[in-house]
Amino acid sequence: MTDLNQPLLCPYCHLLITPEDNFCRHCGRSLKPGYGFFHSHTGIILMACLLGPLVLPWVWTSHRISRLAKIIYSVVLVLLGIYVAWSFYRAYQLAREMFDQVLNGLTLPIDIPTDIQI
Ligand SMILES: [Zn+2]
Repeated sequence: MTDLNQPLLCPYCHLLITPEDNFCRHCGRSLKPGYGFFHSHTGIILMACLLGPLVLPWVWTSHRISRLAKIIYSVVLVLLGIYVAWSFYRAYQLAREMFDQVLNGLTLPIDIPTDIQI
C-alpha cells in the first residue's frame, strides 16, 4: 500500500515527482507503462531492425505514437514478417534440393568391373 501523504519519488533517481508525470522531470525515464524508450518511434524502429514483427506488442501498447503510426508499423511489420518467412522457406527448399542432388549423385549406379582377378 502506498501512503498518500508520502511524497512520490522516482524509482530510478529517487527525486520528487507528481502522480500525473509520465516521465521523471529529473532523470527523464518513463514512469508509466507504454511511455518508455522502446515505445517511441526510435525504439520501435531500432527493435524492428533486430526482431522484425516481434516488436508488434510494443507498437500496440505504446502511448507515445499515434494510431495512424501504429497501423502503418503493423502493416509494414506484418509484410516484412511474411517476406522473411517466405525467404526462409525458399532457402529451405533450395537447401533441400541441393541435398537431394548430392544424395542422388552418391547413389548413382557405378559400373564396377566384375572380372577383376586378385
Ligand atoms: Zn528520475
